[in-house]
Amino acid sequence: MKVVLENLTKRFPGRGKKDADVIAVNRFNFEIPDGQLIGLLGPSGCGKSTTLNLISGLETPTEGRILFGDQDVTALPPEERGVGLVFQNYALYPHMTVEENIVFPLENLRGEKRMSKEAMHQKAAEAAKLVQIDHLMERKPRELSGGQQQRVAIARALVKIPRVLLLDEPLSNLDARLRLQTREELRRIQRETGVTTIFVTHDQEEAMSISDLIVVMKDGILQQIGKPQEVYDEPVNLFVAQFLGTPQINVFEGEIRGGKVMIGKEAVLDAPGKREGEVWVAIRPEGFMPDPDGPFTCRMDRIEVMGRDVSVVSTHEKMTGRNIRSIISAEIPVDSRAETIRFRLRPNKVFLFDRESEARV
Ligand code: ATP
Repeated sequence: MKVVLENLTKRFPGRGKKDADVIAVNRFNFEIPDGQLIGLLGPSGCGKSTTLNLISGLETPTEGRILFGDQDVTALPPEERGVGLVFQNYALYPHMTVEENIVFPLENLRGEKRMSKEAMHQKAAEAAKLVQIDHLMERKPRELSGGQQQRVAIARALVKIPRVLLLDEPLSNLDARLRLQTREELRRIQRETGVTTIFVTHDQEEAMSISDLIVVMKDGILQQIGKPQEVYDEPVNLFVAQFLGTPQINVFEGEIRGGKVMIGKEAVLDAPGKREGEVWVAIRPEGFMPDPDGPFTCRMDRIEVMGRDVSVVSTHEKMTGRNIRSIISAEIPVDSRAETIRFRLRPNKVFLFDRESEARV
């Protein structure tokens, strides 16, 4: 099911004089293609949950429309939208068994959708099998691990075969290893069912690893939408560049002069045809290549071993953060006792942004 957001806006009125109105979602216009997994990504408070709640019908938009396929669902209550919802605290019913939890949404179906007991159990068994908890049907939630409970919640959301599956930080209660495993499973389940899925997270790595498309938000405003690799490789502004990637991109005060990118007194890269003036120069950690004759000189701090790669930590007076982090293959010799280190830069890993607007130049 394709999902279309048209001019979608949600304004929460402030309470009292000092509390201004919040525009949690500001004129969203985008289309989520049928059968895709979309990662909705951004820092805390940027409006991710509000967007999801608008799509599910738990919140009413101040302006704009939501379409599922060609159907305008903006005025429909949540139960008539055909969405499956999974939240961070999966809210299973503690006194019910796994099977009863999964069957529950089916028991509430009325009219022609009403199901026989047998049909309900059949559907529950299918959903449980999909998330691989079919051997745990008689247990109570407290007898399950966090990851198993989360799968029950997903099975419960899937049992009615939703038109759209909405997941709000579904993995944040899991430990690191389980989180990794469950996200891969989520991807598998999504592929198998083909249900259009919207996945909210503040974890950029999580979103990048499983999404077909990512939507990056900031302060209620959509910054960029695209395939994870495209957004990483071609960020439209400094915020997006900084939000994606670990270690974070390194940002320097620089300028364009005489067709060159200058950081301090050094011309670090060619920039033919770019408008002269001050810019932010942002360099991905993998954009630095140690080279004794390289044009960019930094002060060596230390080397951190990562296994296959090493992280060279250095400093520079024009760097906006504390340290420059560059990721270099462990096979390349680097002298950690030297005072300085010189780099050549990979042009496709260097982005220039306007000093004022922070848009890509
Ligand atoms: P987090 O990652 O912390 O959950 P989020 O990106 O999901 O954040 P939202 O929960 O959508 O962010 O909130 C977006 C903004 O809207 C915040 O500034 C929040 O304070 C505000 N907000 C959310 N719900 C309400 C509400 N019911 N009344 C007033 N303001 C609200």
